[in-house]
Amino acid sequence: MKFIGDFHIHTVASGDAFGTIREIVGVSQERNLKAIAITDHGPAMPISAHKYYFNSLADNVRSDSGILIYPGVEANIIDKKGRLDLPDDALHRLEYIIAAFHGFSWDNEDVEINTRALKACLIRYDVKSIAHLNYPFFELDMTQIIPVLLEKKIAIEINNKALKKDLDWFIFRNTVLKLRDKGVKFIVNSDAHYPLQVGDFARAEEFIKYCELTENDIINTSLARVFKYFGLRNGE
Ligand SMILES: [Zn+2]
Ligand SMILES: [Zn+2]
Repeated sequence: MKFIGDFHIHTVASGDAFGTIREIVGVSQERNLKAIAITDHGPAMPISAHKYYFNSLADNVRSDSGILIYPGVEANIIDKKGRLDLPDDALHRLEYIIAAFHGFSWDNEDVEINTRALKACLIRYDVKSIAHLNYPFFELDMTQIIPVLLEKKIAIEINNKALKKDLDWFIFRNTVLKLRDKGVKFIVNSDAHYPLQVGDFARAEEFIKYCELTENDIINTSLARVFKYFGLRNGE
């Protein structure tokens, strides 16, 4: 399977990652990616960037060497109302918002509370995808989430980094198949924390085979599908 973009990439601004955007663009070129999203951790992650960084990202980064660059964030869900850790004015300027539960900003394991928070988040914000549902794992009732995913065209991420070999893929596969059968789409991302990890989807590809997903199920297998996902006609 061929992938034309990688929409979950961290730079040195995340504090736990090691690449500059120019280095990331270099690897993206080598790997024939046409579009990428820069998605550093939101400010609830203790060593990540201030909201001013995200404003500046939106102002300064659009494309480089023929590669489209979507300014984004891997934002953290921080409370039961589903609020994210960037103010609305910063979020409005970003074009790729990933919503994520992380252990440093979310410790509730009650399925009802997790589900209510995620649903409220997806309704409130212009979220494009939900990060790594499989790891870290917070139990969710996806039957309550699916209608919002379909209505707002939100993708579920198949995250290469989170598909650790020592984790049981069976549970995530069951979730993925249930979502696929309802028409939910997926996006395959590296979650790169080092430039050479950009566009590395090796484990994700294994998982896709295990789930028997097709190109049609996955948004970043064609530029046309990516533009449609972003609500664009021919990239305009
Ligand atoms: Zn994450
Ligand atoms: Zn990440």
